[in-house]
Amino acid sequence: MKYLMALDAGTTSNRCILFNKKGEICSVAQKEFKQIYPQPGWVEHDANEIFSTQYAVALEAMQKIGAKASDIAAIGITNQRETTIVWDKETGEPVYNAIVWQCRRTSKYSDSLKVKGLENKFRKKTGLIIDAYFSATKLKWILDNVKGARKRAENGELLFGTVETWLIWKFTKGRVHVTDYSNASRTMLFNINTLKWDKDILKELDIPECMLPTPVPSSKIYGETDADFFSSKIKIAGAGGDQQCALFGQTCFNKGDAKNTYGTGCFMLMNTGNKRVFSKNGLLTTIAWGLNGKVNYALEGSVYVAGAAIQWLRDEIHIIDNAPEADYMASRVPDTNGCYVVPAFTGLAAPYWDQYARGTVVGLTRGVNKYHFVRATLESIAYSTYDLATQMQKDLGTKITSLKVDGGASRSDILMQIQADLLDKELLKPTCVETTAMGAAYLAGLAVGFYKDTDEIKSNWKVEKTYKSQMDSKTREKKIKLWHKAVDCALGWDK
Ligand code: ADP
Repeated sequence: MKYLMALDAGTTSNRCILFNKKGEICSVAQKEFKQIYPQPGWVEHDANEIFSTQYAVALEAMQKIGAKASDIAAIGITNQRETTIVWDKETGEPVYNAIVWQCRRTSKYSDSLKVKGLENKFRKKTGLIIDAYFSATKLKWILDNVKGARKRAENGELLFGTVETWLIWKFTKGRVHVTDYSNASRTMLFNINTLKWDKDILKELDIPECMLPTPVPSSKIYGETDADFFSSKIKIAGAGGDQQCALFGQTCFNKGDAKNTYGTGCFMLMNTGNKRVFSKNGLLTTIAWGLNGKVNYALEGSVYVAGAAIQWLRDEIHIIDNAPEADYMASRVPDTNGCYVVPAFTGLAAPYWDQYARGTVVGLTRGVNKYHFVRATLESIAYSTYDLATQMQKDLGTKITSLKVDGGASRSDILMQIQADLLDKELLKPTCVETTAMGAAYLAGLAVGFYKDTDEIKSNWKVEKTYKSQMDSKTREKKIKLWHKAVDCALGWDK
């Protein structure tokens, strides 16, 4: 067997990548799907479309290189996390659209849980901060708002799943109803200490346990695709949330290994081994993966606006036509000439946690030109990441020595250099930045013996470029001080 198939079920598109044993991409297919916005702040997907586009790209990726089912050793799935689907066990029909992780419809209810003083309790059990972001309140919303749903769920007629659960259930024609530990740890229903659904939380939210999938390790043969799909059966043997899979794909297998993904937002994860580190600085404790009978934990921090700030320059400010142009413009000047952009468009996440913060531009003088402005926007991504890394180090009580990077905006050489300068750490960019899909493929590959162990996988990881700090500490300190002064101007603006 020549390939591992990664199904990468993202937020705006689904992709399929076929990897060979060396971790090289042999075929890719991708399809976007509909984003549904029923009300301001609400986001939904059609769960059937999630499946049909995922199936279509799998077939397309195989056809492109003439691969047959018998060429594929196993399928690994990685997915947009937290997104919530409830469907009928008999007919397979979803009872409501998938409620997407970005959807804020349950914010008020989440606040009410905080008012009840449940924050600490939930955090100790699930590692999460109470928020509408996670699956729990979305699932409750469906049970409370779809006619007859709660009764049917209590009668055992309905099933719940995050996207990997749904895809596995569909591809096995309803034979397998599981969720991997990493995805389960994003539901806010899963006890990350006992690796079981938490009965107290289920009771508090009035969610019947019978509708929940069985939590399983991230690398395990869950079942096989029904023979109808790919002419013959293929083993489904790995699953993980997108950010956890990126950590795995970056081969951050050891305690202390960290990666940062520069996409629309930024997600920094550090492997904390078998230790659950509970943050004092607003980071999340999450399960990285379950592998070989053990569970690895991670500390996770996110920045809402990263690459999205570059999209803003393109789509709203119209100062660039495409993302690479931002790099070109930023490289025309040696610094920002004192200008700071804080892209707090939707508030600020860790370590500020201020939903009322709004974007601001400060430090303008007559000499600041468009190049400085673009550079300041690009630099804001590096400053925000600096803040995350600082919190992470505080929680861990140790220094991060080097950081592996990936994601669309990691293509920006200038951003990566500024990042290395600010962090005063080595940044390592791999040759293959499709780390999310790669992580899923590796997890599946380990389960079926395509790879012997993680050491064999590690040898696939190759650095394309290393960035080292070129900034003196005095300049760094001054810049960071001014960044924090700029952030102060953004805080609480919309209160
Ligand atoms: P996601 O997975 O969140 O959709 P991607 O990893 O595909 O994101 O990255 C897309 C983001 O990367 C966009 O927000 C885009 O603005 C940014 N980006 C892409 N290329 C560059 C570049 N050369 N310089 C800066 N930002 C870039």
